[in-house]
Amino acid sequence: MLEERARRERLLAHAAAAASACRKCPIGAQRRNNVYGEGDPCASLMVIGEGPGETEDLLGRPFVGRAGQLLEKMLGAIELAREDVYICNTVKCRPTAPGPRGPKNRAPEPDEMVNCRPFLDEQIDVIRPRAILALGAQAAKSFLGRDFQITKNRGRWYEGPLGIPLLVTFHPAYLLRQTGGELTAVKRLVWNDLKAVRAKLDEAPPAAPPEQATLFGV
Ligand code: SF4
Repeated sequence: MLEERARRERLLAHAAAAASACRKCPIGAQRRNNVYGEGDPCASLMVIGEGPGETEDLLGRPFVGRAGQLLEKMLGAIELAREDVYICNTVKCRPTAPGPRGPKNRAPEPDEMVNCRPFLDEQIDVIRPRAILALGAQAAKSFLGRDFQITKNRGRWYEGPLGIPLLVTFHPAYLLRQTGGELTAVKRLVWNDLKAVRAKLDEAPPAAPPEQATLFGV
């Protein structure tokens, strides 16, 4: 297992260096840091958001602002530490739009997600998690198509990349924008989604095919 972990770490480090050198989209030239992703390369759960925000761009790490703190609480509620999972985004550079006090965060454009998809696919292929949790509508659309509606279609399992079960829930940044009764209602939905993730991870792992020698008894 140690060898396998080291192999995955090498592959991810190599891919992170390639992402860091990438300028395929204009946001690649505007960002301060490439935010490739981080976490356990042997994680059973991969958490995928839409794109880095200002704090993530500054530090080069995913989900480290207020939304990241809330994500850690969400994971903690199902007995997962941040270090237990692998966290990344659909795009590795911060998407920005002009704002009155400098660049402001925006959702990634479809072409940016398409450009960045090979990096994400490579991460999924290396980590091969048992489940993927997509956060927010944009991340969901990158896997499930432009018609995905988070209020209608979240909270159920889909077949994700490589056949890995994928579930969508609300982005923690969305929760942070809610107040009062709406916050209570969204929290309840997210809690149901998190419990579904816990149940999926607690299922027995798929049995490995028997070795040929065992199969034929020789
Ligand atoms: S978002 Fe992805 S594809 Fe676009 S420049 Fe950044 S690393 Fe490259």
